[in-house]
Amino acid sequence: MKLATIGVGNAGSKIVDRMLEFESRTDRNLCRHVHAINTARTDLAKPDYIPEERRVLIGDTNQKAKGHGVGGDVEVGAEVAKADLDEIRRAFDDVEIHTVDAILVVAGLGGGSGSGGGPVVIDALQEMYDEPVYALGVLPGEYEGGRPALNAARSLQSFVSKVDNFIGFDNDAWRAREQTIEEGYEQMNRELAARLVTLLAAGETDDSDVAENAMDSSDIIRTLNTGGISSIGYAATQVEESSEGLLDRWSSDSQRVNRDDGSQATKIKGLVRRAVNSRLTLPGEVSSADRALAVISGPPSEFSRKGIESARQWLEQEADTVEVLVGDDPRESSPRLSAAVLLSNVTEAPRIDEIQNQAVDAQEKIAEQEAVREEQINDLITDDNNDLDPVV
Ligand code: GDP
Repeated sequence: MKLATIGVGNAGSKIVDRMLEFESRTDRNLCRHVHAINTARTDLAKPDYIPEERRVLIGDTNQKAKGHGVGGDVEVGAEVAKADLDEIRRAFDDVEIHTVDAILVVAGLGGGSGSGGGPVVIDALQEMYDEPVYALGVLPGEYEGGRPALNAARSLQSFVSKVDNFIGFDNDAWRAREQTIEEGYEQMNRELAARLVTLLAAGETDDSDVAENAMDSSDIIRTLNTGGISSIGYAATQVEESSEGLLDRWSSDSQRVNRDDGSQATKIKGLVRRAVNSRLTLPGEVSSADRALAVISGPPSEFSRKGIESARQWLEQEADTVEVLVGDDPRESSPRLSAAVLLSNVTEAPRIDEIQNQAVDAQEKIAEQEAVREEQINDLITDDNNDLDPVV
């Protein structure tokens, strides 16, 4: 698939940057267009791979933002993006939409710029283009507290209702206790980028009909057509060296033994099984998925038709749906064989219920505090018998 990828806010831009890094490291070419949109000038300076001319600062003339961000205020994030909609639309004008199959908007839902601005950007894209618009949304960890949970729970409703499919990533599930938050984010972003790019880059070259079981971009679009919230599983293994110490893929066809035997099939099926049983980007009940798709990526000498067939049967049972596609994505020079599994429209994801509960509590607390704030300030600055008067 060929994508136009847009990071909104800080987390969104960092994740898109890691996607570009993974692409260049693995010789893929998924993101044909990229943009980073943010309200904070300093955050826009951070990416290593997003070209300077593709970074769009919004809200710099807004009194509440002034180029310094929106301080986690989702309302201000949305307001600023709406006010600068012309600038956002102008940035998209140079997207040669006929060169892409779909658009992906990436944002963290716990903050202000991505959480509030993301849905505004999505509206603009849906109006401008007929191509499907997907989102990758990061859910805040429980440890972040009530405000991010409230932002995320509200913003999730906007995102999911506006996009053609929403892929979730749960910071809570991916947090490693022994790391600092920044180190943790860095690792999560790399893990997430590997999953997204391995999955979505399948069929990127348009010559997929050369390989019998090759995954096509239309297969991915069809799987994501369900709408709702989706999750990705992933597993990878090093490609074994042959007895001569050379990688199999370097031997000529005549030398290459036909390895499409039981062991290779078992390896492919095992990899898909590991991917599904691994930590999903958004943990959820696999059997609640509407559709599933698995991409086997690596050197073609490692592929196995039997393996693909048995992986498909296994996945059909596991996800409890007949809408299952398994295909491969040849990467001749890859030292790894990997499986990325998309579970589309997963309807049971406990973390979303938790965030909603945390958000309702936070909303109540905020309302209570607002109700008594004036009174408390008054009590504090007024003497006991109200003998004193203000100066002016
Ligand atoms: P924004 O710039 O106002 O959209 O806010 P941020 O993107 O900085 O933060 C929004 C939310 O995204 C936070 O509440 C975190 O949950 C999450 N977040 C921030 N940075 C990262 C990151 O690098 N990786 C991941 N996975 N999550 C992040």
